[in-house]
Amino acid sequence: MPNRIPRVPVREQDPKVRATNFDEVCYGYNLEEAMLEASRCLHCANPRCIGACPVSIQIPNFIGHVVSGDIAAAAAVIAEDSSLPAVCGRVCPQESQCEGSCVLGVRGEPVAIGKLERFVADWSRENGINAAPGTRSEATSRLLPAGQRPDNPPSRGCRGLEDPTQVGPMTAVAVIGSGPAGLACASDLAKKGYAVTIFEALHKAGGVLEYGIPEFRLPKDKVLKAEIEAVKALGVRIETDVIIGRTITIDQLFDEEGFKAVFIGTGAGLPKFMGIPGENLNGVFSANEFLTRNNLMKAFREDYLTPIHAGKTCCVVGGGNVAMDAARTALRLGAKTTIVYRRTEVELPARVEEVHHAQEEGIEFAMLTNPVEILGDEKGWVRALKCIKMKLGDPDESGRRSPVPVEGSEFEIPAEVVIMALGTSPNPLIASTTAGLETTRRGCLVASEAGATTRPGVFAGGDAVTGAATVILAMGAGRKAAAAIDGYLKSL
Ligand code: FAD
Ligand code: SF4
Repeated sequence: MPNRIPRVPVREQDPKVRATNFDEVCYGYNLEEAMLEASRCLHCANPRCIGACPVSIQIPNFIGHVVSGDIAAAAAVIAEDSSLPAVCGRVCPQESQCEGSCVLGVRGEPVAIGKLERFVADWSRENGINAAPGTRSEATSRLLPAGQRPDNPPSRGCRGLEDPTQVGPMTAVAVIGSGPAGLACASDLAKKGYAVTIFEALHKAGGVLEYGIPEFRLPKDKVLKAEIEAVKALGVRIETDVIIGRTITIDQLFDEEGFKAVFIGTGAGLPKFMGIPGENLNGVFSANEFLTRNNLMKAFREDYLTPIHAGKTCCVVGGGNVAMDAARTALRLGAKTTIVYRRTEVELPARVEEVHHAQEEGIEFAMLTNPVEILGDEKGWVRALKCIKMKLGDPDESGRRSPVPVEGSEFEIPAEVVIMALGTSPNPLIASTTAGLETTRRGCLVASEAGATTRPGVFAGGDAVTGAATVILAMGAGRKAAAAIDGYLKSL
């Protein structure tokens, strides 16, 4: 269905300039631009965009409030279903979800739902709007007066855990991991009045949003921190530097700390390597380590001492969002960077916008190319990536055509640093320290659609169950599990 108003373009930093800094690439809409873009929505009787959103945000409803300039009302609509709108507006793969289903996309360009969500969230934050007053008052109305204990008081705090009785009168629920799955689960449980404590292994909350996705896509202090603070304002307590399975076990959370249910949202942070010769050379990183040094440990900032090495030339192996983030980070640290991917641009799993941004910034793409060896110098440092050319063969079980090596086509790409961005799997620590938790062959936790694991009272969701996926799918899983935990606790 055509629309007479073309999609409103979004302002961005100039590619040449942004390739040398870590400031956010996209500036987002201003009020005037947002209202114009929102006016394109047809308010369909049967809005396909809602069904395609994993957390079912009432999209035409919030967009309608933007059209009339009532941004606070738009924010309240979004807050009913999403606790991280400024994050999702920036990093969700809208082209394959809400925008991919927008009826306007059939013959033209879909409504810029992601950019509108981002605008509403940013505007609310900048104008001090509490996006979820109804839910917050519902949660806070159930708080105990100071000093009053809950019916089932947790017995004692583990390291750093303050008295959870301060959180609320209801049953205590432990959430493990502060990524999108854990934050979404904790928010919904807190809104229902539970006393929720999130345990996070790292020293900062946010999961991949904090340690993986770079500042130039998701500003930490300005955006992420504010959304985490909003979750805390619901009454959620976050305990950092606590590794469940090492600092304290799940059994201890139940038996000694008084928690009545546990949600595991520990993600999939274990990097994969190719198993090719040379992967132990100096200058080979997993994308996780490279990005963690830069994002969580702020290696890009001169006032931090965290070491990082991107070299003058860098190859990043892989084609997903992680590969794009690693490559664009290496570029900003001064390396001439090449992405090495064994299929073609059509099969690149990264978000279209990220690929486009990487190309604009000057990242080179070596497609239909697969590494066979990392070559080193006499001192044990990387000097080149030896690759082989590939061609596409028959489709595999995923429906994608399998890459097949072209015999005798080996060649070298000079590189001082090689970053492997080949995917990740869940860390086995919790499964190996908790009786009764089953895992799949890929190391993912076995859980029902609603998030129930094979151990009663223990629920799970996000990348820990699905393997590496997306922010919004992790949030959706966290929300489903929160509903299941509520049902489980009411049934006890
Ligand atoms: P995570 O975000 O991984 O959070 C898990 C948390 O649990 C971590 O903080 C971890 O420290 C903690 N934890 C682990 N073990 C323990 C333990 N034993 N005790 C206590 N805490 C523990 N998705 C998108 O939708 N769009 C994107 O643009 C995008 N870009 C990405 C870029 C990168 C570099 C990466 C790595 C991923 C990207 N993703 C993207 C994927 C997305 O970030 C993940 O799917 C999502 O974060 C999964 O959420 P989660 O809550 O399941 O796990
Ligand atoms: Fe608006 Fe597109 Fe959703 Fe229809 S499908 S309601 S046009 S955003």
